[in-house]
Formats: sequence, structure tokens, C-alpha cells
Amino acid sequence: MATIAEYIWVDGTAPTALVRSKTKIFPKDIEDVSLDSFPTWAFDGSSTAQAEGADSDCILKPVNYVPDPVRGAGAYLVMCEVFSPDGSVHPSNKRAALRKLMETAGKEEPWIAFEQEYTFFEGSKPLGFPAERRYPAPQGPYYCGVGADEVYGREVVEEHMRVCLAAGIFLTGINAEVMPGQWEFQCGGPGADPLTASDHLWLARWLLYRVGEDYGISATLDPKPVPGDWNGAGMHTNYSTKAMRSDGGKAVIIEACERLGRKREECLAAYGAGNEARLTGAHETCSYKEFRYGIADRTASIRIPRLVEAEGRGYLEDRRPAANADPYEVCEVLLRATLDLW
Ligand code: MG
Repeated sequence: MATIAEYIWVDGTAPTALVRSKTKIFPKDIEDVSLDSFPTWAFDGSSTAQAEGADSDCILKPVNYVPDPVRGAGAYLVMCEVFSPDGSVHPSNKRAALRKLMETAGKEEPWIAFEQEYTFFEGSKPLGFPAERRYPAPQGPYYCGVGADEVYGREVVEEHMRVCLAAGIFLTGINAEVMPGQWEFQCGGPGADPLTASDHLWLARWLLYRVGEDYGISATLDPKPVPGDWNGAGMHTNYSTKAMRSDGGKAVIIEACERLGRKREECLAAYGAGNEARLTGAHETCSYKEFRYGIADRTASIRIPRLVEAEGRGYLEDRRPAANADPYEVCEVLLRATLDLW
């Protein structure tokens, strides 16, 4: 039997990169699969906003892999970094900078957990919205709701959870969100280093889109998919270092918040395109024009959980990243700002 590897990479589309993939078939079964089993490969960068047509080859270098539960036994999902033909890091490759930064920042033992919100669409309307230009009942009952009149797309969500767990993706939870058709999954968590959490988030996004194909439902990471009195979609990012998790960590967390405040604009630049439409100061957000942190405050830029206040150590939640942010970039600015590595 053949081994099938789906090579997955982040493209050069601006302002929000897309995830791409193509299939490599190994005629013979690969035994004892490791990262080295998957060779570098090439693709047409002129079709992914990563090269000009006259010089269009880009290089895919495998950096992580998991089993592919969609195809089953003998199949793998292979996360790749993109390089230029001369071997240099391609400008669209944001993982490389985080990988480099982790050579220094890694000794602080950072952990990351993303809360990835997204919105299902069926055709041009959010799943659960009635016909064109009409709206469902106002927000209220949908968050963590149950019942065919409250939540939409659960069959896709359940299937997505199943394949993520079968792939060994670091998934810690899912919930229905505030707007109909909007959901969240949590990726990363205690022990998840920034590179692993980010790789797994991209793989989980790919699996979400792939599973959606089977149901004729697409998922968007648009930070404000429906204008008006409807919640946007974010990617709250929970972050800690060993010092934050240790006795006396609360002071380290406060200092980290102060440092993040001094890099407000640099952070926002990395937190996703179109985020201003979401960070209005309404709908559980703090305006992008301000920076505030606070205990248990969901109207702040950074929330310090109540439990952290009680125990004197733990983590912080940066509530600003948009659903469409690149996790590699989010991790990079968090580490740079809070560890004084700018
Ligand atoms: Mg949420």
C-alpha cells in the first residue's frame, strides 16, 4: 500500500494568508515514519502569491507531521515551511522567525493556548441566518446553546473534533459562540510550546476546512463576518512563562502586561487584518485605540484571570488577536514584548 502525505503550508495572500496543501504519494509503504521520511518538495509560488511566474518554484520543507485521520491508515498531514529556491527563508514564512526566537526565548519555557473562533457559512450567509438580508433573533441564547433552534453546524464541529483528536492535535475544548453559526475550539494548553501550538492550530484550521467540504459548509476566520450588533471572531491567546507559573508569578505577569502596553501598535500589526472592525470597545472587546489590563476584565486588552489573582501566579490572556491572525506572528510579538527581546 502507498503512503500518502498531504503537504500543508501558509501562502503569501495579503493581508490574510491562506492555508494550502497538495498530496505527495510514496508508491511504497513507509515504515517507521519520522519527519525525515518526508523529503523537501516544490510548488508553483506564482499561484499562491509567493513568486513571479518567470521564477516560480518555491520550496516546501517539512517541519512537523501528524496522522491524517481523513484518509486513514498510511496517510499523514505534513506541516511545511516555505523557502526560496536559493535556500533563504521566504518572506511569507513567519514560522522561521518564531523558530529562531525560540532559540533564545525557549529557556523561559513559554506555553501557549489559542481560543480559535470561526464562523460557518453556507453559500453567502452565516449558517443559521435566514434568507438574504434577514437576521435571526438577537444574540443571547446561542453561546454554549443546545437545540436545533440555537446552534448550527454541530455535526461539522463534532467531526472536526474527532479528526483533530485522532490526529493527535493538542485540542482542549470546543463551544458554540455568541453569534449563530459561530464556534470556537481551543488549541494548545499546558505544556504546549509556541511552535507546537501554532503548528497544531494551522493543522486544525486545515482540518476544519477539509471536514467542512464534506458538508458543503465553509468556515471563515473573518474578524467581523456580520456588521452591526453581532459578535466578531477572535483568537484570544493564553500565554505564560515558567516565571509566571512559579511563586511570585503575578508580578511577572503585571510586568509583562506593562511591556505589552508599550508595544501596543506592534502587537496590533501582528494580530490580524480587519481587526479594527472587531475591537470597537463593544461585544466583549477593548477598543484598538486603547490598552488596558485587568483582573477578570473581559472589556480589557489583557485579562488576568481571577484564579491568578487568588494564587499569585499563572498566565495572562491577550484578548486582542483576531480569528484570522497568524499564530506564529502572535507568538513572536508576545515573546518579544514580554521577554524584552524586541
Ligand atoms: Mg470565545
